[in-house]
Amino acid sequence: MKLITPSILSILVMAVWTLSAPGQSIPTPESVLGHKPGADFYLASYDESREYFRKLAASSDRIKLYSVGKTTRGLDWEIALISSPQNLARLDRYKEIAARLAHGRGLSDDDARALAREGKAIVHLDGGLHSTEVAGAQHTIQLAYNLVATQGDPEIDSILNNVILMLWPTLNPDGQNEVVAWYRKNLGTPYEVSQLPDLYQEYVGHDNNRDGYMNNMIESQEVTRAELEWNPVVFYCHHQTAPFPARIFIPPFVEPISSNINPLMARWLNVYGINMAAYLDERQMPGAIHKTGFDNWYPGFLDFTHIFRNSIAFFTETALYRYATPRFYTVDEFPRDRQALRSEVFYSSPWTGGWWRLGDAVRYMLGASMAVLDTTAKYRESLLYNRYQAARDNITRFRKEPPFAYVIPQEQHDPPTAATLVEKLLINGIEVHQAVKPFAANGREYRAGSWVILMDQPFAPLVKELFEPQRYPDLRDGPNGPPVLPYDVAGWTLPMQMGVETAVVTQPVGADQRAGLRLLERAAPAQGGVQGSGSVFVISHRTNASFKAINEALSAGGKVGFAVEKSAFTSGSASGSASSAEGQQSGDVVVSGIDRDRMNEIARKNSVIAQAVAKAPDGVISTSKPRVGLYRAWVPIIDEGWTRWILENYGFAPETLRNGDIQAGHLSERFDAIIIPDSSPRVILDGFAPGTIPGEYVGGLGDAGVEALREFARRGGTLITFNNASLMAIESLGLPVANVLDGLKNDQFFCSGSLLKVELRDLNHPALWGMPREPIVMFERGPAFEPKSGFQGVVLATYPKDRNPLASGFLLHPERIEGKAAAMEVFYGRGRVYLFGFRPQWRGQSHGAYKLIFNAIYDSPSLAKPTSLQKPPEKKSSEQTSSQPEN
Ligand SMILES: [Zn+2]
Repeated sequence: MKLITPSILSILVMAVWTLSAPGQSIPTPESVLGHKPGADFYLASYDESREYFRKLAASSDRIKLYSVGKTTRGLDWEIALISSPQNLARLDRYKEIAARLAHGRGLSDDDARALAREGKAIVHLDGGLHSTEVAGAQHTIQLAYNLVATQGDPEIDSILNNVILMLWPTLNPDGQNEVVAWYRKNLGTPYEVSQLPDLYQEYVGHDNNRDGYMNNMIESQEVTRAELEWNPVVFYCHHQTAPFPARIFIPPFVEPISSNINPLMARWLNVYGINMAAYLDERQMPGAIHKTGFDNWYPGFLDFTHIFRNSIAFFTETALYRYATPRFYTVDEFPRDRQALRSEVFYSSPWTGGWWRLGDAVRYMLGASMAVLDTTAKYRESLLYNRYQAARDNITRFRKEPPFAYVIPQEQHDPPTAATLVEKLLINGIEVHQAVKPFAANGREYRAGSWVILMDQPFAPLVKELFEPQRYPDLRDGPNGPPVLPYDVAGWTLPMQMGVETAVVTQPVGADQRAGLRLLERAAPAQGGVQGSGSVFVISHRTNASFKAINEALSAGGKVGFAVEKSAFTSGSASGSASSAEGQQSGDVVVSGIDRDRMNEIARKNSVIAQAVAKAPDGVISTSKPRVGLYRAWVPIIDEGWTRWILENYGFAPETLRNGDIQAGHLSERFDAIIIPDSSPRVILDGFAPGTIPGEYVGGLGDAGVEALREFARRGGTLITFNNASLMAIESLGLPVANVLDGLKNDQFFCSGSLLKVELRDLNHPALWGMPREPIVMFERGPAFEPKSGFQGVVLATYPKDRNPLASGFLLHPERIEGKAAAMEVFYGRGRVYLFGFRPQWRGQSHGAYKLIFNAIYDSPSLAKPTSLQKPPEKKSSEQTSSQPEN
């Protein structure tokens, strides 16, 4: 390779710069869009915004577009890199510096100082991901223009020289197009400000910012991948709405904050926040508020997860009326305690009311974004050096104190799910090793193949945050006061949710132990395939992936059944599970009528072991592909989207049921199982009120829908309800079940988003096949059940009696649910209702509970052939239909 001397390089850079910068006409947003971003009643769609960015990039050497891939709905997605032409010409070098400082390895402090002096601060800034919060994606258009077109402004020159801005026009292109189309359709009608009757990001809607560490969605993966590639010192995301009447919420956040955040990042987050508010006040934009509403607890916010990787990650919330429609506010609309317009420590310039327009929101966002860029430009070197210090200190800390490592043993109840957990860590930029020989720690030997996460790595705090049980602090004013509520959830410990066993290593990991470890380059799914000989294949019921195999085998024309007899055959051995303590279980999956090659292909693809045998075991209940209906209200229900995503991923191909589809009746002819995802009974039954939205979206299931569901269950259908939708089923079908938490106030019982242990009564019940004895479930403001007189059914899961069920998070007054039912099967006519008092799928994280859903779907009487035998004979004994819970 021929070396280019620095002087030639700088001449080339100068030449490029002088050729393209001055004299070129840089298009204004108005010239391309026909409107100024933020104009009343106008919103640029994503397609229009993209067109503008492309024209802007073609006109200037201060901006480069960079493709990040496609969105869920298939749109092309680009980000803009904006900086001085000189910096853009040396992008690779600045990326390299950012990466070396972020990882902190192989550098002395002096090396790091030199790199910090030379480097540029990369900043992530975006137009938001909640597409109904519309101003963010308008402001990015104007921000890009201002930075690219302005000449001779010292502030902008300093930003361009010190900062490389990674500007995401929006984090949700699909949603921006959908929301803008909806607004345009209704503009000027009585429904101009109607709520969008859909999830604006496919599957997840407003939860698109709660996928930060799980990265289930394509969009989250692309954001995380870019963060790991570019290592920005700051990650700033725009949201709306501010706590009224404030005009913008800006950090500092409220308590509590995670102890796993490097203190340098937490301190600088506050510096940014106060600088932003001052910057706005200096430019006559009053009404910024801090320290209210939003906390720093849940690490899964896509605009926050990066702080555990030592990137200063935060968001703001600018005031919003609706879409691009303006609104006038008077002081007497303000909450009473804010009507005096009194200055507060963290609300120094109270807003005094008046018009609030989209243009105002865009102006505040431009101010807030510029403040972040300005602060970064001024403190560039310190910020870069701090990034190094945080990495260095994390590495040093976990060489001196536990956890020194975490082990994920090969022996697992559900091995493919353990491999999925490893994959999640790798996506998050975590270094994972695999033992090439037995790994000794904690006084035991972990089999070769076990995964080891050494904690002396730069982003170790994220691992600790995800693996340890959360202890949400009790921040009540007094022992009897109401709890300080978490803004999101209180506990999320990922291995618990996924049902994956992990172990903390409490002694330093020595050189001998390290010598037997190999750094994983990429995720490797668990092995699968056919073993043994014979034309019948038996698969363990323990792995979630077995349901992918079942659904594929049925689609391929195979015959599938479940073994009613207990068997140790595949309960543990095939998967290498050591959890034989759970003993023999029934429920083995038996596949026949499919050739070995095809079976091998299915098993390999889905990481399951199919044991070939000569003849099927006795007592197999055959099944067929269940026809699953999934209720989808017009009020967008996030749980519906997540459920759809999971069912599609596991090959269930659910059919969407709108109100009219259910009200039309004859459901038992078309479906074996119908799922009603988590929502309040009122939303399900009543839907949108008349006059609030165009007529076709008005209303819920109503009386006709309820009657159709009753008929469906009476005729043998399986109705499955999640969390608060269970209350709708109890009410509408008149089930003899009480919610023991009904009417309790927050100080009498509180548990919002915490992981609780449940005990499963009878692992040979088809609904519990393949489950461990004590799984952990996500409880999120749901019900807890108690059978009432006349109850006919089975209590499937209970919260432990005389033992606090809390595994991670916060649970106030556990005694209210101890011994109460968490899940039950209620007989109804020839069918049944499965009531879940928790979230068996929660944000695509609770893999450990998925089988409860899959089993309920397959436990449909209409699927059991040739006999109608639904359960083993002993299941029909009187204890199963007892009206009293056993404990
Ligand atoms: Zn938001």
